[in-house]
Order: sequence, then C-alpha cells, then structure tokens
Amino acid sequence: MKFLRKRILLILLTSIFASVAANAGMMGFPTIDDYQERAHQYGVELVVPDFPTSIEEIESTTAEILAEINTLGDSIAMLEVNELTFENTFQAMDVGTALIYNRVLPINIVMNTSQDAEMRKFASDTMRKFRAANIEFNYREDVYHSLKAFADSNPELSDIDQRLVDEVMAEYRRLGYELAIEERARVEAMQKELSSLRYDFRENIREAKYELHFTKEALDGVPESFLNSIVDEEGMYVVRPNVTNHISQTLKFAKNADTREKIYLARTSRAKEVNIPILQEMVTKRNQIGTALGYKTWADYRTENRMAGSGQRAQDFLEDLVIKLEPKFQQEMADLLAAKKEETGLEAIEIQPWDIAYYQEQLNQKQFQLDTEKLRQFFPYEKCIDGMFTIFETVFDIEIEEIENPTIWDPNVALYAVSDATTEKPLGLFYVDPFPREGKYNHFAKFTIIPGLELPDGTYQRSTVALICNFAPPEEGKPSLLTFSQVKTLFHEFGHAMHSILSEVKYSRFSGTSVPRDFVETPSQILEYWLGEKDVLDLFAAHWQEQSEKLPAEWVESIKQADIANAGYRYRRQLTYGLIDMAMHHCEDVSDIVDDLVGLSNEIAARTTIAFPEGTAFIAAFGHLSNYDAGYYGYAWADVIAADMAAQFQATEDGFMDRETGFKLRKTIFETGNSKDVNLSLRDFLGRDPEMDAFIRALGIESIEASDT
Ligand SMILES: [Zn+2]
Repeated sequence: MKFLRKRILLILLTSIFASVAANAGMMGFPTIDDYQERAHQYGVELVVPDFPTSIEEIESTTAEILAEINTLGDSIAMLEVNELTFENTFQAMDVGTALIYNRVLPINIVMNTSQDAEMRKFASDTMRKFRAANIEFNYREDVYHSLKAFADSNPELSDIDQRLVDEVMAEYRRLGYELAIEERARVEAMQKELSSLRYDFRENIREAKYELHFTKEALDGVPESFLNSIVDEEGMYVVRPNVTNHISQTLKFAKNADTREKIYLARTSRAKEVNIPILQEMVTKRNQIGTALGYKTWADYRTENRMAGSGQRAQDFLEDLVIKLEPKFQQEMADLLAAKKEETGLEAIEIQPWDIAYYQEQLNQKQFQLDTEKLRQFFPYEKCIDGMFTIFETVFDIEIEEIENPTIWDPNVALYAVSDATTEKPLGLFYVDPFPREGKYNHFAKFTIIPGLELPDGTYQRSTVALICNFAPPEEGKPSLLTFSQVKTLFHEFGHAMHSILSEVKYSRFSGTSVPRDFVETPSQILEYWLGEKDVLDLFAAHWQEQSEKLPAEWVESIKQADIANAGYRYRRQLTYGLIDMAMHHCEDVSDIVDDLVGLSNEIAARTTIAFPEGTAFIAAFGHLSNYDAGYYGYAWADVIAADMAAQFQATEDGFMDRETGFKLRKTIFETGNSKDVNLSLRDFLGRDPEMDAFIRALGIESIEASDT
C-alpha cells in the first residue's frame, strides 16, 4: 500500500518536470480564444473581465450600470400578478444581479490594484455608489411586492428553486420588510450610513501610510535581503508599518527592542485619530439596526443565517477555546519570558507585545534549528505556484494552465485557466497578482470578478477570480522567495479560488464562496494541511540554486513542531480578536461601551493574550471590523472544522494525495457551494457531524472533554 503512494508521488514528480520542461520550451501561452472555443463545446462561457483603464471609462460604465440596476428592478416591479413566473422574478433577479456584478467587480479590482492613485480613489468612490444603489434596490417596495406575490402563490418548484425563493424572502425579512413602513425607512437610512462608514474605515486604513526611518545599526538582525529592498537614497532604511511584510520582517528579526517597540507602536496606532470615531458610529449604528429588526444584538442578527446561529453560541465557542488553550498558552509565554531573561540578563523584566514574534523566532531557531530565512531558499515563488497546481490537479482531478493575459494591469500578473481533467470542460479563470506595489491592497485575498451561474439559455457562466498577493518581489539574481507562512497563505487563497471556480451551482446567489461566513474559510484552511507532509513538500520545495536539494526531513518535522509550539499564542490572539469583535457587536446596550472601545479591547487582550500598549489603538486599523463584524470568530470556527476534514485524508493510505477523498471534497463541498445547507454538505463529506477533537489534537494538546463545534 505504501508502494501505491510512492507510485503516485513518482507520477506527480514526473509530471512536474514535464510541465516545467514544456513551459520552458514554449514560445507563448494558449490564448483565451483557444479556451473559449472548447468552452462553447461544453455549453460554458469563460469571461475575461472588462477592466476600465481611465476615470472617464469608469464614469461612463457607472452611469450605464446604475441605469441597468433600475431597469432590472422595473422589469420585476411592473409585472402584473397573473404574469408572475419563477423565471421572470427570482431567476431574473439572480441573473440580472450577476450580470451587473460582471461589470461592477472589475472596478473593485481597479480600486485595489491600480498604479494610479486617482484611479483608485475614483474607483473607491464608485464602489461606494454601487453599494448605495444595491441597498436602494433591496429597499424597492415594488420589487418586493412582485417577489412576495409569487412566493405566496405556493408555486411548485424544484428544491434549488425553492431554496432561492426561501433565501431571498428571508433576506427581505432581515432587511425589515415585516416592519411598519416608517421604521423600515429608518433602517434603510441607517444601513446606507453604515455602508458609507465602512468604506471610510477601510479607506482610512489603506491610506494610513507612515514611514519610519532607521539606521542599519538600529535594524541589526533583520535579513540583508529585506534591508536591501527598503534602503532609500540617503542610506536610511524605510519601514512602512502599513505593509505586512515590513512588520513581520522587522518584528521577528530586529534585535534592538527600541526599534521593535517603535515599529509596533506605529503599527498599532494606524488610523487612530480618524477611525476610532468612525468605529464608535459603526458600533452604535449596528446596534440600532439590530434592535430595530427585533434582535437583541447585532451579532444575533449577523449570525442568524450562519452555522453558529446566535451571538451567544459564537461567544461561547470562543470562550471555550480560550479555556482549552490556557495551559499551553501560559507555557509558551513562560518560555518566551525565559528567553528574554536569558538574552538580556535581566530578572525584573516582562514580555512586551513587540517581543513576541522576536522571541518566538529565537526559540524556533534554537529549539527547532528552524531558520526562516534559510527555509525561504526552498520556496521560490514560481516553484510554489507550479507545485501547488500539480498537487491539486491530482487531488481535484483538474488541469491548470497559464494562458496569455489579455488584460494586464501589471507585468507580473498572470492568468490561468482551470479545466476538468477527465472531461476537459473549462471551469474558470483566475489571475494572480503576486508582488506589492504602492497603493495596492496590502494583504492576501481572493477577489471574485465574475460570479458563476447558469444563464437562462442554459449556458453556464464560469467564475473568474483574482488572487491579490504581496510576496517579496524578486531581487537581482534571486527569485521571489516565500516564507513558509506565505506558502501557507498561497495554498489558503488558492482554496478560495477553487471554491469559486469548481462551483457547479445553478444560481449565483449560492455559487462557490457564497456560503455562510463562518464556513467560508474552511475549504481554504483545509488546503494548508497539505504543507504538513514531507512527501507533499518534496513535490516542489527545493533549494532555488540547487534543485536536487530537498527540504531535510528534520526541518519538516521542525516546522510541524514549531507550528504547534506557537499555537497556544497564535490561537489565543485569534480568540482575542474574535472576542473584541463580539464585545462590540454582541452587546445589548452599546452606550455602556462605545465611549471607550479602545479600553474594552485592551481589557480583552490583557485577559486573553497580552495588553496593547498605552496610547495605541489596534482596533482602528482592524479592517475586519468594517465587513467581518460579528464574524471574526468564524476563522477559529472554520479551523476546527477544517482540522476535522483534513483528518479524513490523513486516515487514508495515500494521505493528502488520496484522489478518492479529494474528489469527494470537490463534489460535496467545493462544487456544492451554498446550494444546500452547509451542515448537510459537511455530513456528506464527513459521514457525521463535525467534532472538535481533531483540531485540539493537531495543536498538540492531549486530552479534552468531548465537545461539539
Ligand atoms: Zn481566507
């Protein structure tokens, strides 16, 4: 049986080399037209988005789209009762909305990737207009009346059509359609204000650009390669606290505690002045909306249609994990303190927030001989991409091929086409925008650009998505080298892309990642588990200068151990963020808390991880509060389920390369999206309801009492 696994790996290795060789020998990539032709044979349509290239173009497109939104509403609203059909009401709305998104979402990409600050600003203002238009559409009484009249006529519908009707009507109820007309108008007005506040909040974070200038001495310990990328003309080193990579490189490696403190303080003070008042308004507004709709708290409203179902259940889940992790967390903090005492030779000393990443790195290097910088040498960007593709081509029975990119917004952006390996049916497109640029979205995320759905003529419009990333760019004579955690992020974001692209759902409303928010991370988090296996890593990880040099087995074991070693702190920090989010949004009387949100968040951090320093305001730049409100718990929630799902692969002979389990994952989870209750899809995959044990075991914690998720 071991033999079978070796054989699969051998086939994989051969195909990696074959594909590298094929690419190297090729003059150009296939074009979208080549793929489109094949797509049409299968009754599917691939869509290359139409990215506007000037402010004028955004302006004229916007006018057209806003008119289209009105036309869509009118077409449903003007139907007489005897004319109502499923097709001209619910389906028309789903299709119409998706086609509008086809034109809106490219502007969202411009906002997040354009090299031109004015374009970004204009695109951002435009997105705000669309958001408002969307809310206005949702509050169109006349549209609602047509839909409700059809829903009330008790039509005989297929399961999926009925689900669409039920979900849309539930959303209307959640919008306040069961309220008196004046009250509903008040809710609508508040929603619009909230939407505007959310945009301001995010915009302020994106634009919060400070620069800290250091001498080389002050940054002693920071990798040379990174320093070379931040040196200015005067020979000073410019650290930008809004760039994640700048933060991780300096806080992990700078030996000078004052330097780390300065950087940490700048990081946790971003947008402080502008965003705290906005946050206060958001929290208040959300509470008012939730209460007006008949919920005790905003979190109750937000979680009602998620797996958690209520604010209390989400909060209990977080507190439960805080307790389960306590002994491990305390042990880790004691180890960090001991390391600090040893390094400084001082006894009366405490661990500060800016010490944590640094001493974790020190301990990792010492205990696991794990040198992040050395490890990076084994993960050149191109090899990671190719290797990841090859792995999931096998696991999901798909093919991924780079195609000529007709819409380049940066020369490094690549476009890929995904097809089913057995039937060759094209399944979708995705862009990868790998490296940071001034003004570009500064984290890692998947953006949907074209949603997947079945059009009325039976053609299936496949998804197009973009992975916007910020890996360290190549340096002279050196490729882009990823840290191990960035490789994980790459696999994670790829999971989101697959969730969209593999979707086979009839309606865009249920397509791919349109699952409950506390489940949406699961299909991504599960893919991170592939990186825990040497067999899998050997498929692509090799020293960039010496291809035959694979990751030493002890390193892989060390990565695993190091991952577990810091897991207590890491998850407690996740829980801190989740609990801060819940404290703001699962609160019946916000007047108690709103005047001192910073104090509130400090209290939680002090109890569950480590207090934020005096004068900082972490929450001001906690972007999740703009759109992941009462939802941050979902990361840990999804992680618990992902661990359970990963254990299904681990239990097979072929482990993570098990095609049967992979195909089951594709069918039951990735293809299904939200076309059925996620709890049922999970049961299809797991054969039972999810459990917490696998997650706790994966963290290296031995015994727990039985607990569900
Ligand atoms: Zn994610």
